[in-house]
Amino acid sequence: MASSSQADVGSVRIPPGGFRRIAVLRLSSLGDVILALPVVHELARAFPGARLEFWTKEEYADVVRFDPAITHVRRLEADARRIEDLVSMSAELEDCDLIVDLHGSLRTRLLAFRQRAPVLRAASFRVGRARWVRARWTRPGPLPRALERYSLALQPSGLASTEAPRVTAGPAAEVWAEEWLGGWAGDGTLVALCPGVRHATKRWPEEHWTQLHRSLRERGACLLYLSLESERRSLPALAACVEADPQARWCTEPLSRMAAVLARCAGAVTHDSGLMHLAAARGTRVVALFGSTSPVLGFAPAGEGHVVLCRDEPCQPCTLHGRERCPKGHFDCMRKLAPERVVDALGFARGPDARGAGAGVAPTL
Ligand code: SF4
Repeated sequence: MASSSQADVGSVRIPPGGFRRIAVLRLSSLGDVILALPVVHELARAFPGARLEFWTKEEYADVVRFDPAITHVRRLEADARRIEDLVSMSAELEDCDLIVDLHGSLRTRLLAFRQRAPVLRAASFRVGRARWVRARWTRPGPLPRALERYSLALQPSGLASTEAPRVTAGPAAEVWAEEWLGGWAGDGTLVALCPGVRHATKRWPEEHWTQLHRSLRERGACLLYLSLESERRSLPALAACVEADPQARWCTEPLSRMAAVLARCAGAVTHDSGLMHLAAARGTRVVALFGSTSPVLGFAPAGEGHVVLCRDEPCQPCTLHGRERCPKGHFDCMRKLAPERVVDALGFARGPDARGAGAGVAPTL
């Protein structure tokens, strides 16, 4: 419960006894939904008697539905996202006494429109981010990380979320992961590799992934690939390589199961993607590969011990979210990011005997 001395801090008045029904809105995407969790956890800590609802698209519900702080997940089905649907759904928010909009989109603004409850909203820093992409000659200043932006949304209530995100996989997924992995990895170090991401310019070339596969296997690692099934199909050479290797597997299971297996890996190699945030939120040390985006835009993995590999090419970042092709044609940001650098970042560069010597979240490679 927030103390009475906090009750008048900022512009939101906390009712006697605290808020009773709180809705947090973050409809997409996977990474942002995960980064919204520290705000949820801070609200649950401050108002333990409150019913806490989380509104998100149904494809991301799996990562929040087992969170003990969340009373109810309101899933937005794919066919219920039109304006008239949202206006009708907004009636469900009428009983709330606090709405926290961490999305700030047209859809969430419609949901929160004309509600009696105060609405706390995260600033987007859209102009600052656009300057980093399109007008670096104006010398833009550092941007707050997404976690800080979301925490700032709570400021009018006198609260601040300071912890790193953590995701709960749920008991069924944990049991499944235990059985599925079984003794498969044996004495080998289990490494998660996440080669999928929606936009092409955030994607490391397939031949780099296959080279990384060979390098890590030579060093005795067991490799667990995670992606959507469509992403697996889009990488036929890598999929064939995994298929032929008894010490490699490909997981295209739902997010809760991916969360469960990620926690059992010593490290994860990812793009700037939702799985990067999921791995970090499961306590797995991440090596993140940034292409057309950049950590300066505020989306580096949260927590200690992670490594970001970004070449800082003069043209980087060239987009906020990703493109379908490199506007320069050379794609140096990803093409020149060598697999050896990833092996080194994972802690394998000094040979198998060096395993465990890296810094970061235990167990490290
Ligand atoms: S090489 Fe430069 S221009 Fe091309 S995708 Fe990467 S950051 Fe963008």
